[in-house]
Amino acid sequence: MKKRLLFLGPPGAGKGTQAKRICEKYSLSHLSTGDLLRAEVVAKTDLGNKAAVLMANGELVTDDLVLSIVETKLKAISSGWLLDGFPRTVGQAEALERILVEIDQLIEAVVLLELNDDLLIERLLLRGRDDDNQEVITNRLDVYRVKTEPLIDYFRSKGLIHSIQADGSVEEITQLIESVLKCV
Ligand code: AMP
Repeated sequence: MKKRLLFLGPPGAGKGTQAKRICEKYSLSHLSTGDLLRAEVVAKTDLGNKAAVLMANGELVTDDLVLSIVETKLKAISSGWLLDGFPRTVGQAEALERILVEIDQLIEAVVLLELNDDLLIERLLLRGRDDDNQEVITNRLDVYRVKTEPLIDYFRSKGLIHSIQADGSVEEITQLIESVLKCV
């Protein structure tokens, strides 16, 4: 079983839901930059205050802010981990690689959850988080295509990508992910 993992995919593809299930079942540390940033916003830290407006508009938080949170967390984890929603830019991916080389823990698999835009939008509107209104969703999808999608080729060139069509039930998708993680 692979235990140093990264979940990639557009907003609404189910990364968070699946990450929680896999982490619970296999005792991995779940590192979601979205959750960590929302906690900073609620706590009104300097970082949270800087991130809040960007998040509300569906823009990405700057690489240096995101990396400052992730680096400390990653270095504190001793066993397996699952990165959810990070990296989201090639700059973040390159910085991540430097950190992982330093702590001698390379990524073992990248799971790419794919879903068409109509279903993504439908799911996000149902979820109804603060940043899940029609206008912000459209922007988050655009931002994903421009800034995050290039990571698919980045990780594919390293032989790490495993694509999953994420339009089944929660249980079905979990099983597909498990089969990928056990077989690769
Ligand atoms: P998520 O919960 O992953 O959908 O993230 C919610 C919001 O947090 C995103 O729309 C971004 O504004 C911000 N965010 C989360 N992760 C990152 C990241 N790795 N880089 C930049 N911004 C992020």
